[in-house]
Amino acid sequence: MTKPSDHDGIFADAVRRLDATSLHATIDPEALEKLKHPKAILQVSIPVRMDDGSLRIFQGCRVRHDDTRGPTKGGLRFHPDVSIDEVKALAFWMTFKCAVVGIPYGGAKGGVVVNPKELSRLEVERLSRGFMAQMADFVGPETDIPAPDVYTNAMIMGWMMDEYSKIVRRHSPSVITGKPIPLGGSLGRDDATGRGAYYCIKELERLEGWKPKEVRVAVQGFGNAGQHVASLLHADGYRVVAVSDSQGGIYREEGFDVPSLIHAKNTARRLQAVYCRDALCEAVDADVITNEQLLELDVEILIPAALESQITIENAERVRAPIVVEVANGPTTSAADAVLNDKGVLVVPDILANAGGVTVSYFEWTQNRQGFYWKESEVHDRLREIMSREFNAVYDLKNAKQIDMRTAAYVHALSRLASAIEAQGTKSYYEGVG
Ligand code: GLU
Repeated sequence: MTKPSDHDGIFADAVRRLDATSLHATIDPEALEKLKHPKAILQVSIPVRMDDGSLRIFQGCRVRHDDTRGPTKGGLRFHPDVSIDEVKALAFWMTFKCAVVGIPYGGAKGGVVVNPKELSRLEVERLSRGFMAQMADFVGPETDIPAPDVYTNAMIMGWMMDEYSKIVRRHSPSVITGKPIPLGGSLGRDDATGRGAYYCIKELERLEGWKPKEVRVAVQGFGNAGQHVASLLHADGYRVVAVSDSQGGIYREEGFDVPSLIHAKNTARRLQAVYCRDALCEAVDADVITNEQLLELDVEILIPAALESQITIENAERVRAPIVVEVANGPTTSAADAVLNDKGVLVVPDILANAGGVTVSYFEWTQNRQGFYWKESEVHDRLREIMSREFNAVYDLKNAKQIDMRTAAYVHALSRLASAIEAQGTKSYYEGVG
C-alpha cells in the first residue's frame, strides 16, 4: 500500500504515548507489551470492474489490534492517504476508546486507498462489496465488527452487510454497524459521534459555569461528526464562528447559522457562508480562511473534526483556544501534546471525545442480536449516561493525579485493559508470586 511520509511513524507515535502514560498506571509489563502489537493484519487487493469496462485494483487492509475485552470494533475509511501504519494506529486507538467508555469490545480499523469522490455510485458499491467479500473470513458478529469512518456511510455499511449475509447464507445485521435504519441500523447512530463530544462539552459547561453565548467555537472538518457537534452546540446558543472542510474555511465573528451551512454543504457539496430560510439561501459576510488559520483562531473551543496529525510541533505554539475537543482520531501528535500541556490548554482527547460513535454502534449491535429495537430517546439517554459518567471519571483522575486529560483517559482505559489481560494470567501468576 502507498505509505505517505507524513503518516509514517504514526503507530510508533501512538505506542510512545502509551509508554509515557504507563508511568502513571499500575500495569503488568506483559500487559503493556501485549498492547504494543496488533493481533492480526489482513491486506487485500480488490478488483473492481469500472463503469467504462476497465478493471482497477484497489488496495485495502483491516487491522485487529486487541480483543481481550471482546470482539474487535472500528470503522472502515475510504481515503487516498490510507496506509497500513495509519490503520494500525487507528485500530490501537479504538482499543483504548472502547476501554475508556467501558464497552465490551477491542479495537480494529480498516481502509481502502481510494478517493471515493472520483468514483460513480455503482463503482463505490462494487468496491464496498468486493472489500467485504475479501474480509468475510476475518470479520464477523463475534470476531470483528466494522462501521463507517472517513468517507464511508450508512449506505456502504448496508451493501457490506448484504454481501456478508450472502456469503454466510444467513441474515447477519450484527456483522457491521452504522447501517441504514430500515436495514437494522440504530436510531441515533448517525449523529452519535458529534453528540458524544457535545455531551463532553456540556459536562465542561457545568463544571466551568459557562454561558453558551459567550463561548466561541471553531470546527475543523465539516463531515458527519463536525456537522453534528456544531449543530448541537449552535442549538444551545454557542457561537460557531468558524468551520472548514478539505477545501478551506470560513470565519464570521457573529457566528454562523449552522443549519444553513449544513443545508448548503449537503446540497451544493461545498462550504458556503449563507443564511437559509427554507430552501432559499443568501450569502452572509464572512472571511475566507485556510485550515491552518482555523486552528490558530482566538476562540474558546477548538474542535478538530477532520483527519489526524493537524496540531503538530509546527503549529501547537500558535493554538490560542484554551480548550481543544478532539472529534477526529489522532488530530494532535504526541510532540504537540507537550506544547499544549505547557500552555495549559485542556485537551479532551479523541479516545473520550469521539467515543459516542462506537458507543451507539455497540447499542446497534446489541439491538441486532436481541432483534428488539429502541426508541431514539432511549439511545440518547444511554449515550449521555455513559459519556457523562466516563468524562467525569477521567476528569476526576486528571485532578487527583495532577495529569493532563489525555493521560488520565489512557490511565482510565489501561486499568480496564490491564485487569482483563492480567485475569488471563501473567508471569507473576505462573511463578506463583502474584
Ligand atoms: N469510525 C468510528 C470511530 O473512529 C466509529 C467506529 C465504530 O462505530 O465501530 O470511532
